[in-house]
Amino acid sequence: MSPWREAGEGDFAVVGDPVAHSLSPRMHNEAFKHLGLPFLYQAVHVPQGELSQAISYLRAKRYRGLNVTLPLKFEAFDLHWSTDQSSERYRAINCLNFEEQRATNTDVPAFLATLECLNLPDQACALLLGAGGSAKSLGIALIEAGYSLRVWNRTLARARELAEEVGATVLESADPEGCDLILNATSANLIGESPPVLWDRSADSCRAYDLAYSKKPTPFIRSARQRGLLAIDGRAMLVEQGALSLEWWLGVTAPREAMRQAVDKELDVS
Ligand code: NAP
Repeated sequence: MSPWREAGEGDFAVVGDPVAHSLSPRMHNEAFKHLGLPFLYQAVHVPQGELSQAISYLRAKRYRGLNVTLPLKFEAFDLHWSTDQSSERYRAINCLNFEEQRATNTDVPAFLATLECLNLPDQACALLLGAGGSAKSLGIALIEAGYSLRVWNRTLARARELAEEVGATVLESADPEGCDLILNATSANLIGESPPVLWDRSADSCRAYDLAYSKKPTPFIRSARQRGLLAIDGRAMLVEQGALSLEWWLGVTAPREAMRQAVDKELDVS
């Protein structure tokens, strides 16, 4: 039986595969509590290829909307729900509103907001690791923001496809020489790995950004810090994309601080 048929009652959910590790339910339920809203946010396991069926099922159960995580962001785009111009360009969707059949991408604006704390130079060069849903939308956003982009991916053919689509250079090895930013948009952390970055070839001023997050520093963050680089993980982006999703669904101001504290508490950060 498809796992989403076991979903409990709820109003909003994050769907993906895997999804059990997601901190979104804790973060959003804390936000609802803070706002005095009687909503419940769940995590629902939806395997690739089953998003459309799962949506019909969850709509019938009176859910109002979803966040979509890996590996379903392209599939969510292929639903062809009404969307805004920027999400149309990013070609990946992470947020759905059932009642209005609308879709948007809150990952990209959240990423761009959090990137600011790294103080990167204008027209910086970024090494993008990965070629999945997040890599593609963030690659497009970085090019639009004036970055030059180099792409490495475990499956080279997908790196070539992405590079051609967004206007980037393909690398056969993850070589950061000459780059100001190394952005890890792979899901390697799910199995406790880091992409094989040639850390010795990075400049001292290079920054490292891992979209993933976990209780302990991810293997990518550990390696970057061992090399002496300033490195941040994906928790600030998680909170910001969650806050933007909530604001898009409900038209209220999201309680970012309460959401951040809920995430930090779960990750044992004081
Ligand atoms: P996705 O579409 O499933 O893409 C996964 C990518 O990771 C592919 O390029 C895949 O390469 C690569 N990969 C998987 N395992 C690998 C390994 N062991 N070594 C090297 N590369 C590997 O996933 P996504 O939606 O783009 O998400 C990517 C990451 O970003 C995930 O960790 C996700 O949690 C994170 N994320 C975080 C936030 C946040 O708010 N912090 C938001 C969005 C995404 P192949 O093409 O070779 O399979």
